[in-house]
Amino acid sequence: MNRIVFVGTGGGRHAVSSQVRKTGGIFVELDGLKFIIDPGPGSLVFSRFLGLEPEKWDGMLLSHYHIDQSSDANALIDGMKDPAPVGEEAAKEIFLIAEEHCVNMKKDHDEYPRISKFHQRLVKNLHAAKPGQDISLGKIKVKTTGTEHGVPNVGFVISGSLRIGYPSDGIYYSGQEKKFDNCDILILNVPIPKGGESKHKVYMSVDDAIKLVKSINSKPRIVILTHFTPWMLRSNLFKQAKIMQDATGVKTIFAQDFMEMDMKNFQTKVLQLKL
Ligand SMILES: [Zn+2]
Repeated sequence: MNRIVFVGTGGGRHAVSSQVRKTGGIFVELDGLKFIIDPGPGSLVFSRFLGLEPEKWDGMLLSHYHIDQSSDANALIDGMKDPAPVGEEAAKEIFLIAEEHCVNMKKDHDEYPRISKFHQRLVKNLHAAKPGQDISLGKIKVKTTGTEHGVPNVGFVISGSLRIGYPSDGIYYSGQEKKFDNCDILILNVPIPKGGESKHKVYMSVDDAIKLVKSINSKPRIVILTHFTPWMLRSNLFKQAKIMQDATGVKTIFAQDFMEMDMKNFQTKVLQLKL
């Protein structure tokens, strides 16, 4: 089954600390490959108790080193497909596509958690990514896109039997739309409601999201909003999604924690935790 599971739908430090929405990232199963995008706090634990079996995953996409995207990355890599007995190291048949600052220490970006050298050695198929790269993972291809987020960051277009666009964090910039032509599903991190603006202009608002979707030539079949701050949650998600849908003409929904979407028909249901 091709599916997306939202292991969390929160974004920003207030969502992380309050867990008003969980922050575990987005699990994707596409054409037989299983992977996580941006595993923030709670990713490992909630994936385990949602029955997603993180030890069997094939890899990870990491857009940037902010804590709400990356905190659980090392712990997840540690447990994925481990062929070695305890106490020994062996490279695993897994992939990691990570914005390059997540894997290469650079002087001006050294204050965040990132993939440790130890865990990098465990990954057989490692890509330190910049915007504009085309990476083949066999059955699926991943294209990285540029962002305007104030820190080094990449978005992803994941192409297999279906195409998923994920611009990651950041404001809309002219030309961004060209990267997301012909997506079936567009997942947008939108922490700011209609009429709002982030202090440093680095997070996408509903107004920005409308600009992006309206300017895409071949529009997605569905847009899913996620990465919610308490501010966005107080602003009525039904209303925010409706504003977007009315402005763009594209079916727009908001994600819920543990929501699974069947990519064949876009049916959704909320998975139950099995503790
Ligand atoms: Zn960020």
